[in-house]
Amino acid sequence: MRLEGKTALVTGASRGIGRAIALALAKEGAFVAVNYNGSEEAARQVTEEIRSAGGSALAYQCSVADAAAVKDMMEQVIQERKRLDILVNNAGITRDNLILKMKEEEFDAVLDTNLKGVFHTSKIAAKQMLKQKSGSIVNISSISGILGNAGQANYAASKAGVIGLTKSLARELASREIRVNAVAPGFIETDMTGKLPESAAEAGKGQIPFGRFGKAQEVAKAVCFLASDDASYITGQVLCVDGGMGM
Ligand code: NAP
Repeated sequence: MRLEGKTALVTGASRGIGRAIALALAKEGAFVAVNYNGSEEAARQVTEEIRSAGGSALAYQCSVADAAAVKDMMEQVIQERKRLDILVNNAGITRDNLILKMKEEEFDAVLDTNLKGVFHTSKIAAKQMLKQKSGSIVNISSISGILGNAGQANYAASKAGVIGLTKSLARELASREIRVNAVAPGFIETDMTGKLPESAAEAGKGQIPFGRFGKAQEVAKAVCFLASDDASYITGQVLCVDGGMGM
């Protein structure tokens, strides 16, 4: 129970990696604010699973791309819990296309959710964490943001942006020992990779030294570590959870 008494907010926690992170943080003793955008029923199931395991959680709807909605949600969480110890920026989308076919809307939608969403939440979290003089932010980037990926110019740019944002915020907040780190997953078994054509999935596996996709729980363990005091002297880092893909 490394996170007993802590309050955590996980964006995009209704499904996939975010769901696994919410469950793992709750298992370590944190209260978890489970953010979702469209999947209300799935988010409700996450909070129920946490509660039936003896933890505590509540679901909060808002699109991270909407600055005003993020402000309302986060102020509600902070007002209810009186603090915010852990923010996990996990919400993310893909709108894959080759650059010649990529529409401006596809570029903007991905940047608005994956990068600007992190700006919106982090700004409010930083204010609260500076008041508390403590806190940990973990941003979910991607190996695509480090290596690039054909067909994902928008997504890779957003995830590279998340790394720059992580390191800048880590420098801004370090004097109060507020830590900001990123996790860069490789291919992980979720709805997001479930959309890949069989040929692309096989080609992906061929690039992974482990020869398999990772599991959401394997990403969640890295997030729990960075969120906890076990990582008390770690900030501004990018931890790849990718079966060796990026080495
Ligand atoms: P996923 O299964 O598609 O789930 C995405 C989650 O993000 C859902 O809970 C969804 O909520 C939420 N979300 C989407 N847009 C949102 C918005 N505007 N506001 C709030 N929540 C929003 O994706 P995943 O594979 O778990 O990916 C999670 C994160 O890991 C993403 O940032 C992704 O880029 C990153 N990542 C994934 C992989 C991978 O291989 N899967 C690899 C590297 C990085 P609703 O369903 O409620 O709309």
